[in-house]
Amino acid sequence: MKKETIIIIGAGPCGLAAGLALQNKGYDPLLIEKNNVVHSIYQYPSHQTFFSSSEKLEIGGFPFPSIERKPKRHEALVYYRQVANRSKLRIQSYERVEDIVEEESCFYVKTQKQTGAYKMYNASKIIVATGYYDNPNLMEIPGENLPHVYHYFKESHPFFQKKVTVIGGKNSAVDATLALEQAGAEVTVLYRGEEFTKEVKPWILPDFHSLVRHGAVTMEYEAEVNRITSSHVHYKKNGKELAVETDFVLAMTGYHPNHTFLQRMGVKIEGDTGLPIHNKETMESNVKGIYIAGVIAAGNDANEIFIENGRHHGEKIAASIESEGL
Ligand SMILES: Cc1cc2nc3c(=O)[nH]c(=O)nc-3n(C[C@H](O)[C@H](O)[C@H](O)COP(=O)(O)OP(=O)(O)OC[C@H]3O[C@@H](n4cnc5c(N)ncnc54)[C@H](O)[C@@H]3O)c2cc1C
Repeated sequence: MKKETIIIIGAGPCGLAAGLALQNKGYDPLLIEKNNVVHSIYQYPSHQTFFSSSEKLEIGGFPFPSIERKPKRHEALVYYRQVANRSKLRIQSYERVEDIVEEESCFYVKTQKQTGAYKMYNASKIIVATGYYDNPNLMEIPGENLPHVYHYFKESHPFFQKKVTVIGGKNSAVDATLALEQAGAEVTVLYRGEEFTKEVKPWILPDFHSLVRHGAVTMEYEAEVNRITSSHVHYKKNGKELAVETDFVLAMTGYHPNHTFLQRMGVKIEGDTGLPIHNKETMESNVKGIYIAGVIAAGNDANEIFIENGRHHGEKIAASIESEGL
């Protein structure tokens, strides 16, 4: 068993920021990451542009120069890799935290490495920064598991001259539609809302609406998808059962944090909102010694917290740990 003082689970931007804030106070936390650093950003669509300017994505005071004001995914990958490297944060990648058990104010952390080998640590403080991007919101309808149905959009090329149904009405659905149409896909968007909400980046909507007006994209609002087959997506609109022919389905229905993981540690989750119970000043959960950082603190509404604000959670945690002592 390896003895540590502080373990951070997840090396996304907010886990890294928490590590840097602790380093700044003289601590040497260990970050354990099941993939590699900033894996969620790696999983973004390949050509994604951030909606944030680069300075709002900076962590630990490291400057993030970018070509345009809003950087692209690959620039952020370079930036966070460099920060991880230069700061000399201790990061163990390709090691998944499986379980945490508390005994007399000490946390026993069980991990599994890529090789399959298990490892045990103990620590006095745990920071959970596991994000939400691993868990797509499922529609729980027949056909959702078919091989031509995806919950992540990476590249538009495979969909050239193919019929694609995009399900959803948030940024990822609109972004994917624009990229798909440009790559020559025949796109139908099915969205259960009456219109797009304010959460959609306003600067992408004019292009989208123009494509719909010119018949390049078919848009169906108030469409409740209820079944997917190998050739069609079935939905209900205004009481009528309808279907659209499709080769591929992109279910851009959002993502949610893994509540079970937190609950197994004793962290309570608020019923309706999915919010983990925590003190907003210190980010400490209802379990003393377990803190949460980043988008996992947002509960079901992942749009409440992103890198811009979640990067500051680490400073609160570091201040709290410093004032209490280890
Ligand atoms: C397409 C897209 C564009 C976006 N654009 C912006 C933007 O412009 N500006 C902005 O501020 N935000 C943006 N966001 C949101 C932003 O990506 C998230 O808010 C951010 O990634 C949250 O950071 P995090 O560190 O909390 O979690 P994550 O980045 O999700 O990191 C969590 C890490 O924990 C690891 N992990 C999970 N479980 C375990 C485990 N059991 N053991 C070990 N490791 C584990 C994961 O592998 C992951 O690396 C965007 C999101 C998307 C999808």
